[in-house]
Amino acid sequence: MFLKNFIDGVLVPPYSGVHLDNVNPATGKIYSYIPDSDEHDVQLAVEAAEKAFPTWSKMSIDERSRVLMRIADLIESKLEELALAETIDSGKAISTSRTVDIPRAQANFRFFANAITQFGSESYHAAGEAINYTLRQPLGVVGCISPWNLPLYLFTWKIAPALAAGNCVVAKPSELTPMTAFLLSQICIEAGLPAGVLNIVHGLGGKAGQAIVEHSRIKAISFTGGTVTGRKIAQVAAPMFKKLSLELGGKNPNLIFADCNFEEAIATTIRSSFANNGQICLCGSRVYVQVPIYERFRDELIKRTNALKTGNPLEEQHDLGALVSKGHLEKVQGYLELAKAEGGTILCGGERLNIGGENAEGYFLSPAIIEGLSNEARCNQEEIFGPVITITPFDTEAEAIELANGTGYGLASTVWTQDISRANRVAEQLQAGIVWINCWMLRDLRTPFGGVKNSGVGREGGFEALRFFTEAKNVCVKYG
Ligand code: NDP
Repeated sequence: MFLKNFIDGVLVPPYSGVHLDNVNPATGKIYSYIPDSDEHDVQLAVEAAEKAFPTWSKMSIDERSRVLMRIADLIESKLEELALAETIDSGKAISTSRTVDIPRAQANFRFFANAITQFGSESYHAAGEAINYTLRQPLGVVGCISPWNLPLYLFTWKIAPALAAGNCVVAKPSELTPMTAFLLSQICIEAGLPAGVLNIVHGLGGKAGQAIVEHSRIKAISFTGGTVTGRKIAQVAAPMFKKLSLELGGKNPNLIFADCNFEEAIATTIRSSFANNGQICLCGSRVYVQVPIYERFRDELIKRTNALKTGNPLEEQHDLGALVSKGHLEKVQGYLELAKAEGGTILCGGERLNIGGENAEGYFLSPAIIEGLSNEARCNQEEIFGPVITITPFDTEAEAIELANGTGYGLASTVWTQDISRANRVAEQLQAGIVWINCWMLRDLRTPFGGVKNSGVGREGGFEALRFFTEAKNVCVKYG
């Protein structure tokens, strides 16, 4: 199957005529081909978006909202087809695609279709002198670039607010997971999205992605991906004074205090460590446990990790599927080797698994726990982004905070304690954009979402996203 770009409302092959292989990570086999787009395709997409902008941006909010709702409805009605496509493309367990990825993709459209109807702006009244009001106007053509770990989920998390705010979009999904973005093009046609409002250009980050970032008429870039790529994008976009939203990597700590609800803490730590094969930017990859319960917690964590089932992601009974690519599998395995060299002990897992049958060449790895590493070890500092966590004991609250803050990242963290004062005290001191107390990944789409330090710049979610995708213009009116 040959995927196509979505430009000016139609599905088209790449300008170059060249395609890239798309591999099913659970079999290691090529199963489709994607456009190897370049600056020519991006140029066509920008021209289509510019042509569509005057009408789309002036369309009534109600009408725009209805189109986005139709897209949400179609995603919902095609849940099974999309979930299957997501799992084949990414290797993730089908239960994750069915219950997390696709439901959230429809929720993104539905949420922003509603949010735009509630989006207001400021007004300041200086008695007897003047009134100031702020217009929040769409930017024009904006670029959205997303990664492979939550393909349709993160793609729509950017596109929906951009469109709701009245912008036209040129978007690029990850070259590793293009399939649901392609299916979204078909859904947009079916939903009656006007031509050129959303354009999807497939291809390589360094080519198609770079062309989006470099394009002088694209006013803003919303990017989710690795910190190294984010830095490259900022280097190109910042001197052009583009608006930038960068959601980057994480090395998230879980702080587990001795007074926690043990059962909830352990069950959630299993999820926060290994959901989606640990390939979620919000996964907790450094588990810190207070000394009095350390051994009990560690032993239970090993037991439950060993009980997780890794296998064919299309079979519902498997908790973990395949890692997204051979290159990524090798990177994760490299960190396991490094952990040993750094003096760590692999308590369980970390083995390449041969599932056999048609999955014999798939990229399967058993979930792993590493103990005995210093906080400065690279395995505790660098993002591994796979089913691998480290576990470390701590004594005091102050020590826990120091360990948690002791990396260059600052995306998310969890705190497990029954002491509400401690929970709030620790939350205040953690260097992170998101703190979950006694829970993980409990998301309310109205809340600000993003990281500090090397985890990014800016916030997505709720009105923050609508503010990003609009320009504020203050109008000052003097009383006569
Ligand atoms: P990458 O940074 O490699 O890629 C992200 C996207 O950027 C892909 O579409 C990629 O295309 C594209 N890209 C790559 N190079 C360039 C470039 N020079 N110019 C423009 N676009 C480019 O990230 P991954 O796909 O590997 O995703 C994993 C990373 O994403 C992890 O670090 C993870 O933490 C982070 N992430 C952060 C989240 C957050 O909210 N903070 C959420 C989810 C993930 P291609 O795939 O073709 O290379």
